[in-house]
Amino acid sequence: MGELRKDPLTGRQVIIAAGRAERPRPLGHGGAEATEPCPFCAGHEAETPPEVWSDRPAGSPADRPGWNVRVVPNKYPALTRDGSGKESQASGVHEVIIESPAHLTQIGQFSTEQFNTILHAYRSRLAALRNDHRLRYALVYKNQGADAGATLPHVHSQLLALPFLPESVATELQGAKQFFAANQRCYFCALMDGTVEDGGRYVTANQDFAALCPDTPRFAFETWILPKIHWSCFDQCHDSALANLAQIMREVLRRLGRIQDNPPFNYFIHTLPLGEAAAPHYHWHIEILPQIGRAAGFEWGTGVHINAVAPEHAAQRLRDAVI
Ligand SMILES: [Zn+2]
Ligand SMILES: [Zn+2]
Ligand SMILES: [Zn+2]
Repeated sequence: MGELRKDPLTGRQVIIAAGRAERPRPLGHGGAEATEPCPFCAGHEAETPPEVWSDRPAGSPADRPGWNVRVVPNKYPALTRDGSGKESQASGVHEVIIESPAHLTQIGQFSTEQFNTILHAYRSRLAALRNDHRLRYALVYKNQGADAGATLPHVHSQLLALPFLPESVATELQGAKQFFAANQRCYFCALMDGTVEDGGRYVTANQDFAALCPDTPRFAFETWILPKIHWSCFDQCHDSALANLAQIMREVLRRLGRIQDNPPFNYFIHTLPLGEAAAPHYHWHIEILPQIGRAAGFEWGTGVHINAVAPEHAAQRLRDAVI
């Protein structure tokens, strides 16, 4: 059970989740190594809570081997669904998307088909939470590599659904609303059009998606993936678009892997808050944040990031990477 606290000066919200101290120690700091028995490997299904979604042959029993992708509640949740009703006792959902039955550690190793199955898991879980009125926002995110916060090496991503709108999402939504009011168009649509015209920050594209380095990246080689048409919610993505998203995500992550021997990275999906279906000002997107340099004292003290790689140069390097 997490407890939600809000700082009266800044409005900053924190979740106090004391039980998470018992989870596996971070990789590379005496924690589980790749060769140790791993609770996410096929055959170890009993070591996780029962699955809530899986891609497995029709009729095959749950929580047994045979799956391609499996979603289970987080064993060490930051938040859980059964809130006590106390104002500060935050109710939420915390799930793990186990992305392969085999002990792989780099998502870039996957086939496009495997990426596609992972994206189906994201869409299905986001859609399932959409009508839970206790929840306000659901974030799908990935930490790959110890320096990006991964505690287990086996490829996985997570979904954390919150009973409130987190501050940075609220700020982005508010900015998008203001941009729309001032310009009568969506900021993200305009960003893509500008990138295509100028070409400098463009990474790659396919029929349904574009990948670009944003104008004001916080991190070196930060890359965003956006649907080319104006879509507000990730779970509106139909099957053929998901297949194209799988293709472009795989391509971008493989390009990124060539920049510096598979750097650690985080990515997350920014989509409309739960319960909202469409908005002219908001366009869902994936932000990929490589962790090549570390956020440190200056960044924590000011919220201002120092980025040594200009996005035009980053995009050029990503375009030129041989994959
Ligand atoms: Zn494993
Ligand atoms: Zn748009
Ligand atoms: Zn965003």
